[in-house]
Amino acid sequence: MTAAYDAIVIGTGQAGPSLAARLAKAGMKVAIVERKLFGGTCVNTGCIPTKTMVASAYAAHMVRRAAEFGVDAGGWSVDMQRVKARKDAISAKSRTGLEAWLKNMDNCTVYEGHARFESPHDVSVGPQRLTAPRIFINVGGRAVVPQMPGLDQVAYLTNSSMMSVDFLPRHLIVVGGSYVGLEFGQMFRRFGSQVTILEMGPRLVQREDEDVSAAIQQILAEEEIAVRLNAKCIGFSRHGEEIMAHAECADGAPEIGGSHVLLAVGRRPNTDDLGLEAAGVTVEGHGYIAVDDQLRTSAPGIWALGDCNGKGAFTHTAYNDFEIVAANLLDNDPRRVSDRIPAYALYIDPPLGRAGMTEAEVRQTGRAALVGKRPMTKVGRAVEKGESQGFMKIVVDAQSKKILGAAILGTGGDEAIHSILDVMYAKAPYTTIQRAVHIHPTVSELIPTMLGELQPLAGPGG
Ligand SMILES: Cc1cc2nc3c(=O)[nH]c(=O)nc-3n(C[C@H](O)[C@H](O)[C@H](O)COP(=O)(O)OP(=O)(O)OC[C@H]3O[C@@H](n4cnc5c(N)ncnc54)[C@H](O)[C@@H]3O)c2cc1C
Repeated sequence: MTAAYDAIVIGTGQAGPSLAARLAKAGMKVAIVERKLFGGTCVNTGCIPTKTMVASAYAAHMVRRAAEFGVDAGGWSVDMQRVKARKDAISAKSRTGLEAWLKNMDNCTVYEGHARFESPHDVSVGPQRLTAPRIFINVGGRAVVPQMPGLDQVAYLTNSSMMSVDFLPRHLIVVGGSYVGLEFGQMFRRFGSQVTILEMGPRLVQREDEDVSAAIQQILAEEEIAVRLNAKCIGFSRHGEEIMAHAECADGAPEIGGSHVLLAVGRRPNTDDLGLEAAGVTVEGHGYIAVDDQLRTSAPGIWALGDCNGKGAFTHTAYNDFEIVAANLLDNDPRRVSDRIPAYALYIDPPLGRAGMTEAEVRQTGRAALVGKRPMTKVGRAVEKGESQGFMKIVVDAQSKKILGAAILGTGGDEAIHSILDVMYAKAPYTTIQRAVHIHPTVSELIPTMLGELQPLAGPGG
């Protein structure tokens, strides 16, 4: 027997549940399907647990530095079982809260199992068959496991299996020097592990400007985190209990011995086992579902939201996808993905807050631009907190005076970036912030000062 609905939502990540709630409230009969943990990546293996652990790592870091602040912390240690228990409790509260919300929602039926398209309007969940004129795909992604020689001989970890770690790895080898790898790398170093980060490229977080990458590397170096760049030929072998990572790079030792390996080399969408061919949904390179500016797929009546559409890789972009679809379907409001300004944070400590274009991207456009930069050593609040690593930087269009992009790598950078982001959304000139009176002492109070010291930005070659 086929159960008929007005809408089916596949996945309970960061877009699906809110969309199910809006549709159900609008009077539609909704089915939502989850094959694993309610809340998906962010709640169970991504943002929430990692930021919870980053907080534990920060506590350890500050205790270690206590004497600098005139505080005698005495004997202390990190109890990894309690670190994990704290993380599990915070994560579980989100997961169970979401599950209960969905299961008690009027007009909404929850199915637990793997959803698969049987036709453009039919989905199977195990033996059950569901049909609806509207289907919303919110299946997220998972860690890429690259083909590296010898990887099958070693037990490796991903961001998901890291969630079960309740012990201190003696030496954690992190493969991948980007957002996920750096967050785990710094956190485990602060817990007390030796950490080596292997990065195939010539610098860390290559999506960022070179000065940002260099400052991040400096922050990690100060905590004695080993970073091996240009590790183009990574392979593994076992020497008894020891895992040997072969880097064979131009410089540095050809082999690094460690106790555990974390793979953090990117994510892939969960679209390979969804039966998309039966639905006539077009998939692009790397498995991302092709969507238009309002998140419609190639098949009428099917939308794709969140990480699986390749338009964003963040919780806030997935949630914004929900807002776009709901606005178009229910509010007669033609919101679009292209209205969105790229923004995100990297949660090493101090964090990196980012908005809009990088300086390199602005240079590539060849437009006349101005740049302002300020080291965090010249930000009173950072100095007072004893956290003066990093810098802030902003790039503006010389003609229109609109802000093109900014990076704040420094204490509070993940929050302070929003004063810049909001002015960008307002499409106001940078002088709006420059003339604003910000609160003293904050990181944000130096943004107007930085904007008063703009210099011409050299072109692509300069
Ligand atoms: C380590 C790590 C740290 C991160 N930190 C941050 C951060 O600080 N800030 C930030 O913004 N983003 C962060 N992210 C990214 C963020 O977690 C994702 O962008 C976000 O969770 C994407 O949400 P989503 O709704 O697209 O999918 P997901 O949250 O992945 O949810 C998809 C759901 O669909 C289910 N599903 C998949 N296939 C099927 C199927 N066939 N049938 C039924 N159910 C299915 C899955 O089980 C899952 O529950 C992090 C990611 C990682 C890995």
